[in-house]
Amino acid sequence: MTKIYCAKYLVPGNAPPIIGGALLAVNGKIVSIGRFADLRRAHPEVQVVEFPDCVLLPLLVNAHTHLELTDFPLWAQQFGETTEPDNFVDWILRLVRVKRKLGKKAYSCSVANGIRQSLAAGTGAVGDILSQYSSRKVYQGTMLHGVLYLESLGHDPEIISRFRNELRSLLAEERVGLMQLGISPHSPYTISADYLKDVYEKCFRQNLPCSTHLAESPEEIEFVVHGGGDLAKRFYPSVGWKYLIPKGSGCRPAEYLHRHAGLFPKNLLVHGVQLSGREIELLAKQQMSLVLCPRSNAKLKVGKAPVAQLLQAGINLSLGTDSMASNDSLSVWDEIAFAHNWFGGECDAPTLLKMATSGGADALGLAAQLGSLEVGKLAEFQVLQPETAVAENEIFDYLVAPGRTEEIVQVFHQGETSV
Ligand SMILES: [Zn+2]
Repeated sequence: MTKIYCAKYLVPGNAPPIIGGALLAVNGKIVSIGRFADLRRAHPEVQVVEFPDCVLLPLLVNAHTHLELTDFPLWAQQFGETTEPDNFVDWILRLVRVKRKLGKKAYSCSVANGIRQSLAAGTGAVGDILSQYSSRKVYQGTMLHGVLYLESLGHDPEIISRFRNELRSLLAEERVGLMQLGISPHSPYTISADYLKDVYEKCFRQNLPCSTHLAESPEEIEFVVHGGGDLAKRFYPSVGWKYLIPKGSGCRPAEYLHRHAGLFPKNLLVHGVQLSGREIELLAKQQMSLVLCPRSNAKLKVGKAPVAQLLQAGINLSLGTDSMASNDSLSVWDEIAFAHNWFGGECDAPTLLKMATSGGADALGLAAQLGSLEVGKLAEFQVLQPETAVAENEIFDYLVAPGRTEEIVQVFHQGETSV
């Protein structure tokens, strides 16, 4: 299939927007990109698909989510869990209560809904965390790229040994659909120190993608440093770990990961809300990537990520919606709009768009295929139709304003339309 796609504005992501821009796609890949007039002249015989008054740009990357929890709002209602939690630990306890009542089928339906909602919102790749491994099959035959991180956690040696065996056989599959398989040791506060180190060494040795929630809440800091606080008092007993509470490590979460072989670039860190200046320096030195989830952080009232310092340190940043247990939608467009407002002047519009495209593609190891519209990459893009005309100097302001999800008129995967 060979076609030229042109629009009023083409935003490649790696270069300034092109007015009257176009791209030539051949067999799902971008072969040429530039001004429509030039492409037309060079390829007069090729069919042209025109999007006048529209903006054409790359699909977005949701670098951290849990699509198996897409139906969480429905489940919470079904199980009478309608009171919004007051704090982080209340939120986890509610999540655990709801998850205990679910069957495997509920998770698979939820993943399917999550994939559907993501594609419709112009997302092309996800970093998805999965605790119910059997739901991975839902990805077969779908157009979402990314990494499916199989979640692993626990303190009980018997359960850990079961996890180890299961992971070994699943990871041999390597891929499900377009998704690469990896591991997510959930967080420093939900996994034993020995097992955590074990997982990191395995990932490093086998060059496997890995992802860890890190420095999300003040409760986590208290727990990792001192071994106390609400996570020890309320969360640990509620999941049967009352007698497995580790002693405080005496160090903050990033240093704790470093001590357990966890600071290698393929370990994608998530949240980083509570990172100190010294931790940020350490992450930069170790060439780590970090996913920010501002709407989830705001909803759980855990604080705001120090985005200016993170950018200053040169850490590769991306955006994630996290799950529907702590967010209102899976749209990265909605995340961008919220982040623009939430971070204020600390993070300008082009930087936010970079986080939602090439930053995410880099973080998931997909930079050669996705994240920007460039020759040689996949012809994966979306077309927005602004309700009111956008002037040339307003394109980035338009893209970070609320309401973009609703303006998606077409989404293309490898040159084929899917919406
Ligand atoms: Zn998460």
